[in-house]
Amino acid sequence: MGFFKTLEVNDNTDNKSDNPTQEEHVKCLIIGSGPAGYTAAIYAARANLKPVMIQGMEAGGQLMTTNDVENFPGYPEGVTGPVMMEDLKAQAARFGTDIRWGMATSVDFSQRPFKVTVDGDKLFIAETVIISTGATAKYLGLESEEKYKGSGVSACATCDGFFYKDKKVAVVGGGDTAAEEATYLAGLAEKVYLIIRKPFMRASKVMQKRVENTPNIEILYEHNTKEVTGSNVVEGVTLIKRQGEADEEEVKIEIDGFFLAIGHKPNSDIFKDYIETDDVGYIKTVPGTSKTNVPGVFAAGDIQDSIYRQAVTAAGSGCMAALDAERFLGEVE
Ligand code: NDP
Repeated sequence: MGFFKTLEVNDNTDNKSDNPTQEEHVKCLIIGSGPAGYTAAIYAARANLKPVMIQGMEAGGQLMTTNDVENFPGYPEGVTGPVMMEDLKAQAARFGTDIRWGMATSVDFSQRPFKVTVDGDKLFIAETVIISTGATAKYLGLESEEKYKGSGVSACATCDGFFYKDKKVAVVGGGDTAAEEATYLAGLAEKVYLIIRKPFMRASKVMQKRVENTPNIEILYEHNTKEVTGSNVVEGVTLIKRQGEADEEEVKIEIDGFFLAIGHKPNSDIFKDYIETDDVGYIKTVPGTSKTNVPGVFAAGDIQDSIYRQAVTAAGSGCMAALDAERFLGEVE
């Protein structure tokens, strides 16, 4: 047996409302416009695959909500997320990528060429498809959290941790990501509170040990977040200890940064009838390639990466997807 299970195709019943009225044939369709999608577009356009990119609901992806990016090679002074995405977009457009507004609403990958419906009424017939729809960080859903996004509330310690040098921060979550982010932040910040809703941590034993052995991390078990507080920026957080119990108690702590590490949701729902994913929804690719279980469909960026999730790794995998698509077309044509 190969890397993938046998493909079971069903009739895509979730998307029966799509009724396309216009049709267009493309060599390479890129779905999603983060660093993976734009890098795939740059390479595909330069290889004369005449790529069409469907930008998706959040054009530019997660970096559009990131203030300063200081770890992407080539920007010695750093760059804001939105500016970097504009640069990538301009570079993709310069080589002829056809960038379109719109949202892929359903797909039919049962045979090639593939069918992708956009906004319910436009049908793309694609020789190859590159999926780069990314993953969306989960937030708690608090109004106060929304208010401070980008000014103290973040879902990426690697991106924003540097701004909290010698300050106090809190990380919410008890999984491997939270443990890793808390440890990373502990190397920069004066103090890290790790806020865990259960009386135990879900993270792997080795990560738990690492957290427990870091002197400036304080673990707050059985704490839920009530609200993030501050005037213009984050200044504190109000927690509820042992929520719903007889000894429930409100706890206030002073912090400068509030980091969410409660998981990501990969944006793979519309592909699930055809493309193999793991239990969480991350697309499985043949190790070391961007190939999915459907020949001619490739995946790049956070949609297939639950581990690294960096702009630069996404860009690298976007390059791989375009090269894989080019080689695939060379082999079948
Ligand atoms: P997980 O789903 O493993 O953990 C999410 C954590 O967030 C849990 O502790 C969960 O609590 C908590 N949580 C979820 N919703 C809320 C909420 N509303 N309020 C408070 N807490 C909440 O996600 P991760 O991102 O940590 O990990 C995803 C996968 O990636 C895992 O398989 C992990 O092992 C892997 N990974 C591996 C790494 C490595 O090997 N270096 C690094 C990072 C991730 P509860 O436990 O109560 O449900």
